[in-house]
Amino acid sequence: MKAILVTPGKSDSARLAVVEEPAPLSSQALLKVLKLGIDGTDLDINAGTYGEAPAGSDYLIAGHECLAVVKEMHAETEGTTEGDLVVPTVRRPDNCINCASGESDMCLTGNYKEHGIKGLHGFAGEYGVTDTRFLVRVPKQLVESIVLLEPMSVAEKGVFQAYKMQERMIWRPKRALVLGAGPLGLLTTYLLRCRGMEVHAVATRSADSPKARLVQRVGATYVNSTEQPTNTLGKFDLIMEETGVPSVAMEALHLLNTNGIICFLGIYPHAQLFEDVGALYTDMVLGNKTFFGSVNANKRYFEMGAKDFAVIEERFPGVLRDTITKVVPPSDYLKAYRPSRDDIKTIISFQ
Ligand code: BGC
Ligand code: ZN
Repeated sequence: MKAILVTPGKSDSARLAVVEEPAPLSSQALLKVLKLGIDGTDLDINAGTYGEAPAGSDYLIAGHECLAVVKEMHAETEGTTEGDLVVPTVRRPDNCINCASGESDMCLTGNYKEHGIKGLHGFAGEYGVTDTRFLVRVPKQLVESIVLLEPMSVAEKGVFQAYKMQERMIWRPKRALVLGAGPLGLLTTYLLRCRGMEVHAVATRSADSPKARLVQRVGATYVNSTEQPTNTLGKFDLIMEETGVPSVAMEALHLLNTNGIICFLGIYPHAQLFEDVGALYTDMVLGNKTFFGSVNANKRYFEMGAKDFAVIEERFPGVLRDTITKVVPPSDYLKAYRPSRDDIKTIISFQ
């Protein structure tokens, strides 16, 4: 079958190749891949800075954002069966207590595996295999946009965890700030609008760029930070930091309201910044502020995401579909790996 391969540790190694079709074990399903999304993690792997091939393989089949049809499955598992439209989760557990309890996104050891990222082949091929317990069945009506469910699951986890932590107090959040308006930032913006928040989404494109228009379509405010500094926007009850830029993340701490919470979702390059950390800690204490990080998402966040997709589709028809700005065949995979300026999300179609 045709597949996109990478060699972890080597830069610019992404290539289209022909490899053997995978054969599922009895605990696995064979998936016919329909669509595949490429994100920042895939670009990092292709830059040679991240990723790990499966044991005994010198390459890794890329891809962790997948929409597929179950082609073959030995036993029906949790209501999923052959012919179903599914999105597989990314991470597979080890035997730590969190993994054993269905929360591999909270793995204690770091010995988990991730499809297309760490130790397991991904879904950037005509077929893929995965453990049947980690398939999320999705409705056929969402077939155009539901390939975005994996990034949505990451947004769902961050937002869920923030609300969970804030249960320690009476918290009536009104204003949310989303830093970064890539696919993850946009999905977070849609989600927070559905939660009734007043949302500002910040990026560096102009106010009439495609991503700015999507922000406006869901009734949020788009801010071009090259024209309007974020410190003019007032304070926020919830901040979702999704740029992965250390200076932006640091500045965000100053924008947090009393009793506010900030969630970091980026992978940050090394950076040393000049900052009055004493003042920062004091402000954090005197304002009961919370800073936390969040990674990956277990199956229940995918399920929450699928429900919210239906809500978003109902409230803001077409925004999910329009977040996908390009669909290309596998032979044009480089269009996904080297996005142009106005691309938001490029999807590779294996159909
Ligand atoms: C994926 C997560 C994964 C993380 C780190 C992200 O792009 O969405 O599922 O845990 O990369 O590998
Ligand atoms: Zn674990």
